[in-house]
Amino acid sequence: MRLIFLGPPGSGKGTQAKLLAERLGVPAISTGDMLRDAVRRGTPLGRRAQAIMDAGELVPDDVVIGLVRERIALPDAAKGFLLDGFPRTIEQAEALDRILRGNAAPLDGVINLLVPEGTLLERLLGRAALEGRSDDRRETVAERLRIYREKTAPLVQHYRDLGLLTDVDGSGSIDEVAGRIDRALVRPARAAGRA
Ligand code: ADP
Repeated sequence: MRLIFLGPPGSGKGTQAKLLAERLGVPAISTGDMLRDAVRRGTPLGRRAQAIMDAGELVPDDVVIGLVRERIALPDAAKGFLLDGFPRTIEQAEALDRILRGNAAPLDGVINLLVPEGTLLERLLGRAALEGRSDDRRETVAERLRIYREKTAPLVQHYRDLGLLTDVDGSGSIDEVAGRIDRALVRPARAAGRA
């Protein structure tokens, strides 16, 4: 199973990708987590990425594409993976497509988490208070939402046109959303069975 989780910051992609990855027994690959790890370890990449992330901007495409290319080549990703936070631009989506085509391992689907903007802000600012993520400050949050709309939201139509996208209501509790994701994943399989 190879899936992408799409959705604005605060939509719960990371939480749901990790939970679904456990249920499916495949790795959840989060470019945000990989970059934060590089920042913590103070690697050259981390030093380059920190200021960009703190400003709520996007790390250059070639950098994250390289990270993902290497990560999905690791043995634990051979039977599948969930991508969280990647792709975030059309260029990243096209690079992913080339990588997967090279591996003869096409995408199975894209889960698009839908959450009203007011809820996103509440969740992100709540997380800032709880976890102290340095990019969850009010000014940065507004910038991340703006960048999402400008750069990442076009991917929704891109994957819808490819027939890969399923919208999932991301409001409510973690369990409620997880239940909706499970139902969204069995639906295409049943439809295929009937055909
Ligand atoms: P969120 O979805 O809450 O914004 P992430 O953990 O996915 O959080 O990303 C945090 C930050 O890491 C982003 O604001 C961006 O600076 C950087 N980042 C993560 N993934 C990518 C990506 N695919 N392309 C460019 N930058 C990225």
